Amino acid sequence: MVPEDQIERAAEAIVRARYPIALTGAGMSVESGIPPFRGPGGLWTKYGEPPMNGFQIFMSNPRKGWEDRIKPRYEELWGPLRAAKPNPGHYALAELEKIGALRFLITQNVDDLHRQAGSQALAEIHGNFKLIRCLECNARFPEKEISLEVLPPACPRCKGLLKSDTVSFGEPIPTDVMRQCADHSARADLVIVAGTSATVYPAAGFALEVKERGGRLIEVNLYESEITTICDHSLRGTSAETLPKLAKAVSQRRKESLS
Ligand SMILES: [Zn+2]
Repeated sequence: MVPEDQIERAAEAIVRARYPIALTGAGMSVESGIPPFRGPGGLWTKYGEPPMNGFQIFMSNPRKGWEDRIKPRYEELWGPLRAAKPNPGHYALAELEKIGALRFLITQNVDDLHRQAGSQALAEIHGNFKLIRCLECNARFPEKEISLEVLPPACPRCKGLLKSDTVSFGEPIPTDVMRQCADHSARADLVIVAGTSATVYPAAGFALEVKERGGRLIEVNLYESEITTICDHSLRGTSAETLPKLAKAVSQRRKESLS
């Protein structure tokens, strides 16, 4: 449980910030029942690590890449993702956006849960497992809109090569997503870092850049992480428990300042 006064001080920082953004990672997914990739019970521990050059393998034979993707084994891998529901932490971030206290959200998660919770100003830096992306024009399509009768499928807009939106190892982050993240983090003066140790680049770089410019960092994490020492506020708790309290405190302060 995070002490009340720590929540209040962090809420005050958010209310005072000109352009608060958030960065979220796997910890939030785990709290929604999605197994982590690595470690005991991890998906990759069970099924094997994906190859580090997965993107190059896909590009060398996209048809085989698609054939592999629609195998039943893959469905078992994505099953927990399909079954997962947003937790109170996801809803709290969507609420902060709605009341104007959060301008943008960068997530490393591919599970679609921030969208399901209602976040709209959102960049999914590693993609979204429910979407298919065109490697030529970057258009995204829901899976069900793409016919898999002929593999590999072609983009309905430009006939370019389609791939799952999730970013493979060895694949560059899509340029449109990178641009959005760079634009918003350049304006940000506060970052809420939730459920991530913020050590995975490029996402971590956006938070560190804001700090270097004199911005503030609020960490919401059960455990100390490598960025704890540079955080202005370290809220030691789960996202599902801590973010709703934070959102409530922010909402309360904004109401008081308006009345
Ligand atoms: Zn296209």
